[in-house]
Amino acid sequence: MASTTEDAPATLPTPPVQVLYCEVCSFPLEYCEFGSSLTKCKEWLQEEDIDLFNRYYSEEALQTKLGTLSLEAQTKLEKDTAKKEAKAAAKADAALKKKMASQVTIKRIERNKRKHVTSVHGLEAFGVDLKKAAKQFAQKFATGASVTKNNQGQDEIVVQGDVSGEILEMIEEGAGVLKGIPVDNVVEVEDKKKKGGD
Ligand SMILES: [Zn+2]
Repeated sequence: MASTTEDAPATLPTPPVQVLYCEVCSFPLEYCEFGSSLTKCKEWLQEEDIDLFNRYYSEEALQTKLGTLSLEAQTKLEKDTAKKEAKAAAKADAALKKKMASQVTIKRIERNKRKHVTSVHGLEAFGVDLKKAAKQFAQKFATGASVTKNNQGQDEIVVQGDVSGEILEMIEEGAGVLKGIPVDNVVEVEDKKKKGGD
C-alpha cells in the first residue's frame, strides 16, 4: 500500500492517523470517488480488502451515504431558512419599533396676529412621500404647501394657514397618502409668538 502523504496533493486536508491509501490513485480511500479511476480503485479494493470495499461501496453503504447527504442538505436548508426567517422577523420587529417610536408632529405656527402656517413633521417614518402629501394638503385646503427643511435640517411640510385640526382629521381618516399612520403617534403642538397685546 502506498502510504506517503507526498503522493497526495497539498490541497487535501491533513489525513487522520489511520488513513488508508488507495494503491491505484494514491488518494485516501474516501477520495477515490473524486479521482478519475474509480472503477479500477474499486476493483483493487475488492481484491485487497472485501470488508473495506463493502464499507465504502456496498449497496447499503451507498444508500446510507445518500441518505446522510440528503439529510445534511435538508438540515442545512432548514437552518438557512430558519436564519432567513429570523432575520426577516427581526427586521420587521425593528421597523415596527422604529415606527412606534416615531412621531408625527403637527405644529401650528403663528407668524403674526392674523397669519398662521402649519408644519407637519415625521410623516416619512411611516413611509409617506412628503411631496405627495404636500400636494394632497395643497389640493385639500386650496392653499400653498411645500416640503422644506426645518431648523434641524429635517424635511417637513409647511402648509399655509391654520389647518392643524384638519390635518389631524385627515390622518385619522387615513386619507390618501396618509393611510396607516397610527393616531397615537401624532402630536399637535402650538408655536405661539410672544403675546404683544391682543
Ligand atoms: Zn483510488
